[in-house]
Amino acid sequence: MDFIERNRKKKNMKNRKVARRQLLQFGALALGSGIVTSATSAHGNSFDSKGTLVALDSLDEKSTPQQVLNELIAGNKRFVENKPEGRNQDYIRLVEVSQGQKPLVSILGCADSRVPIEVVFDRGLGDLFVVRDAGNIATPEEIGSLEYGTYVLGSKVLMVMGHEKCGAVKAALDGKPLPGQMGSIVKAIEPAINRTAQDDSQEFYTQTVKDNVMLQVKRVNESPLIQELVRDNKLIVVGAYYKLRTGEVSLIN
Ligand SMILES: [Zn+2]
Repeated sequence: MDFIERNRKKKNMKNRKVARRQLLQFGALALGSGIVTSATSAHGNSFDSKGTLVALDSLDEKSTPQQVLNELIAGNKRFVENKPEGRNQDYIRLVEVSQGQKPLVSILGCADSRVPIEVVFDRGLGDLFVVRDAGNIATPEEIGSLEYGTYVLGSKVLMVMGHEKCGAVKAALDGKPLPGQMGSIVKAIEPAINRTAQDDSQEFYTQTVKDNVMLQVKRVNESPLIQELVRDNKLIVVGAYYKLRTGEVSLIN
């Protein structure tokens, strides 16, 4: 057994023990009260006395959008440093969120298999309202979904996240005809491309990924519902860039 496998087995064993302890705690709570009115998971998530689900650790509906953003970025830091804690991925959290969702963050990300949103932010069930498509484009269905995540479910942060070596952006840069419905994706990215400055460099590719993120942020910001939330300081909308090689998410200004 090599070192990595040994470590993985150790970690799995530890996780199983923690899950079992949580199950026992939860069982005792449910039995003791006769009815499940409150529960606390390993990371302090719970229902408050009014039965409102509190999400993202110590944060709740009273937290500021900036606090929520900081917590989100802290999760990515854990992931980058290879110290993920698997936040809210336990059984007790599953039970909690089966009664309702209050995701404090809505994210529009790319469908790319290398950018699984919950994983890269070290988050779990009920934390993130995630919309994904190739090229993280904001078409009416995506904007409608993000309006639901923010206006209805109460997310305080709306993030549009692009990533290094995005295939959809590359296809838009190449400008070749595509079969099926794929052409509609590149059409939504096309306005982000600065054709007069275009070259074959990696830098230009990366810059176009970022420009595409900001184009989609602009489209999201055209929603009157999103505008209202931003005006009332209930929401911040940010663009972000994910580095495939390091797993790091950085904000784009
Ligand atoms: Zn992509």
